[in-house]
Parts: sequence; C-alpha cells; structure tokens
Amino acid sequence: MTESDCLFCKIVAGEIPADIVFENDDVIAFRDVNPQAPTHVLIVPRRHIPTINDLEESDARTVGNLYLAAKEVAADEGFAASGYRVVMNCNAAAGQTVFHIHLHLLGGRILGWPPG
Ligand code: 5GP
Ligand code: ZN
Repeated sequence: MTESDCLFCKIVAGEIPADIVFENDDVIAFRDVNPQAPTHVLIVPRRHIPTINDLEESDARTVGNLYLAAKEVAADEGFAASGYRVVMNCNAAAGQTVFHIHLHLLGGRILGWPPG
C-alpha cells in the first residue's frame, strides 16, 4: 500500500531523495534530515503503516526486520558495542509527525535517560 500524500512512501518510491544507508525487500533506512545525534537514521517498512496502533499480527515479521536493520546500521556506524538507542514514537503526545511508522536509530554520543 502506498499513500500518495505520505512523505516516507515517497522516499520508498524514490520520488523524494534520501541518504539511504540500508535496504532490503521489506525495509529501508535513511539519514534523518534533522539529526539529533551524530548518527540519526530512520528505519521504515516499505509498506505504509501509519502508527504502532495500526499494527496487525501479520506485520510481526516486518517489525522484526526493522530491528534487524537497526542492528546492521549500528554495526556499520561503529557503535554497536558502545551503545545506541532505538525508539518509535506513536501519535501526538510522543511527538510523531510522520504517520508512516519508523524506528529512530540514534548513536554517536551519550544519550540521556529518560528522554524528554
Ligand atoms: P517523528 O517525529 O514522526 O517520530 O519523526 C519524523 C522524523 O522525520 C523527524 O526526525 C524528522 O526530522 C524526519 N524528517 C522529516 N522530513 C524528512 C525528510 O524529508 N527527509 C528525511 N530524511 N527526514 C525527514
Ligand atoms: Zn507511507
């Protein structure tokens, strides 16, 4: 499913350029345009899923593939052992602004806890 007005569907389709760092047949990962850490990569399913609340049992493999991609990118970026953060925002109170689910992979600096 592709949503014609969805920013990340357009990146998946190649209609908007992005700095892609990983891709397979299910997910792609690209650098965030407004990075919050030395490495800030967004990992998204190729298929349009608006929020975590829209996930179905049949999406379980895709969600797993998002994390497997995060592992690969963290290794490529050189901070797999030292540490990094993977987070997904859901809806307004968490600050979700693009309604196509995405993992944020943040690394390359000490990350405070709890997040804001
Ligand atoms: P959210 O706030 O929905 O969790 O995260 C959306 C993320 O998408 C933000 O970190 C924002 O900087 C990023 N973003 C917004 N527009 C673009 C874009 O056109 N290209 C890229 N690469 N990232 C974007
Ligand atoms: Zn989409």
